[in-house]
Amino acid sequence: MDTSRQTEHPRRSQDPQRNGPAPRPAGGLDPDAWEQPSTPARPRPSPRPGLNESPPFEPPISAVGPLFVRRLERIYSWRVTFSVDINSRPTSHILGGYYRSRRLVRIYAHDSKDGRRPLNELFDTFLHEVAHHLEYTEPQSFNSKVCRRVRGRMHSRLFWQILGELKFRWADLQARS
Ligand SMILES: [Zn+2]
Repeated sequence: MDTSRQTEHPRRSQDPQRNGPAPRPAGGLDPDAWEQPSTPARPRPSPRPGLNESPPFEPPISAVGPLFVRRLERIYSWRVTFSVDINSRPTSHILGGYYRSRRLVRIYAHDSKDGRRPLNELFDTFLHEVAHHLEYTEPQSFNSKVCRRVRGRMHSRLFWQILGELKFRWADLQARS
């Protein structure tokens, strides 16, 4: 498995007091593979909904990947195909990863403590990993001749521009429907 080009994304600690130095990754990962994402963590929903709340809709894991691809189709026409793996191995810090050599977007669906992650959180991770894919495969779609990722920094300005565009389009679609 080629891990030298993968980017994996840890969850930002929900307790700012405990934001110590990030643990070092196992050998083979990019040295910056544990960099914190700059998106703030959302509060987690209560694991036991109150009597008046119905639990959020949770499609079976096997349906999540196709669902996310269909959602993406409504907001963006990508040029280079990629695969999606919704992985059910529980993780505590890693939300997902993009494996450049295999053009693989991987999403970890289960938190080792809280169980299955909410669908909107998984979709957020999906868009994040797709933004990595687009930065590598079609930077020209975002007015850049080349991928702007620089060694030692996981997220370039171009990356955030791409992710911002995807999130804007999705929010815009939600607002109109
Ligand atoms: Zn990333």
